[in-house]
Amino acid sequence: GLADRLQQTFKKLRGRGKLSEADVSEAMREVRMALLEADVNFKVVKDFIGKIKERAVGQEVMQSLTPAQQVIKIVNDELTELMGGTQSRITISSRPPTVVMLVGLQGAGKTTTAGKLALSLKKQNKRPLLVAGDIYRPAAIKQLQVLGEQLDLPVFAIESGANPVTIAERAIEYAHSHARDMVIIDTAGRLHINEELMQELKSIKNTVKPHEILLVVDAMTGQDAVNVAETFNNELGVDGVILTKLDGDARGGAALSVKAVTGCPIKFAGMGEKLEALESFHPDRMASRILGMGDVLSLIEKAQSSIDLEQAKELEKKLRKEDFTLDDFLTQMQQVRKLGSLDQILGMLPGMGNLKKQLSGVDFDEKELAHIEAIIRSMTKQERRDIQIINGSRRKRIALGSGTRVQDVNKLLKQFAEAKKMMKKFQGMQKSGKKNFGGF
Ligand code: GDP
Ligand code: MG
Repeated sequence: GLADRLQQTFKKLRGRGKLSEADVSEAMREVRMALLEADVNFKVVKDFIGKIKERAVGQEVMQSLTPAQQVIKIVNDELTELMGGTQSRITISSRPPTVVMLVGLQGAGKTTTAGKLALSLKKQNKRPLLVAGDIYRPAAIKQLQVLGEQLDLPVFAIESGANPVTIAERAIEYAHSHARDMVIIDTAGRLHINEELMQELKSIKNTVKPHEILLVVDAMTGQDAVNVAETFNNELGVDGVILTKLDGDARGGAALSVKAVTGCPIKFAGMGEKLEALESFHPDRMASRILGMGDVLSLIEKAQSSIDLEQAKELEKKLRKEDFTLDDFLTQMQQVRKLGSLDQILGMLPGMGNLKKQLSGVDFDEKELAHIEAIIRSMTKQERRDIQIINGSRRKRIALGSGTRVQDVNKLLKQFAEAKKMMKKFQGMQKSGKKNFGGF
């Protein structure tokens, strides 16, 4: 599937310390192929790759991210943007009832989705009314009534004679008189779009003026789903799309193209046949699901938000000049703490299991960090800058001042010396171009 292909591509990038323009071009070629194979609209793919290349080339280098991480981040950002950026909700009218009309082709999942939506609204303490607007197949009315029974919710139906426009009008009157604050109208579909269907939906729309017209499309049909969405939006006007059967669609093309092609946001996703299987559609979550690297992405976000870039640059400069002091040591540990425990951080990186085992002994906890902070704060400026001068009597004074034991002070000084040594080695490794453990 798409996720596998993209993950393969990024795995190749991760092995490199530094990325050349050729590496990025090759990766983008593979991303392009993967998207086309996932049945994403051709023009959408072209624009998408163009944007990513532009950003990847003009990108300001972020100290806290490796080149591979930066490319993944850009792809993730652009995927999110492609699907609408932020979550789109349905409009709730300030004057109930809010009227939602579900439209779409036969078999797309309208009736099932009506039930799912009703359940989700009921859980939010709303009082939905289901309306059987598909009068052409008696089984359709029955299907909705069965759902209503399961959900313990009323279903408005007129068994014979009335047309869908009248049914919708009368249903809204019923909602008013029975204090139902949400009206969900299920409508008839056809196997293909035709004039008769569009006319019927337009008459319902013009008469009851729904607050939301939601188009239900089957994700499994790929680009066809996108074409259907385009036609419905042009003919009828659509406020949002519900993408059903996303549980069975390994390609993901419709999810990626709908918004870009039609301008209509995806508001919900159907993830199965059960009534609980409806999810609000979050473009950012979908993007990381497609990339299949939610954990890596959340780590990148964390690193971005918690590490002060200026501070990081300062530290790096100091390291180079080898005047890394205990103050810097403290700052650095505080930054690492913002990221989570060392265990957590390593756990989020793929293939870091071994290193995690090796390092599990050097992990420090919150309490220890508080001790370290107290100890460093009890030192004079001079002592922090040059640990060589911290002799026995100074150690005693520092321990007393910080409410710790001399052993604790000794341990910290040893840890600091170790850290300094490790960093020097780490620096040397980077200079000689060897792979470092931070550059996954
Ligand atoms: P309608 O003709 O548009 O009203 O479609 P239905 O609601 O009758 O659904 C058609 C079929 O699709 C039924 O078998 C549903 O169980 C199935 N279906 C609907 N939504 C989903 C979904 O999100 N995932 C899966 N796997 N099946 C779904
Ligand atoms: Mg139906």
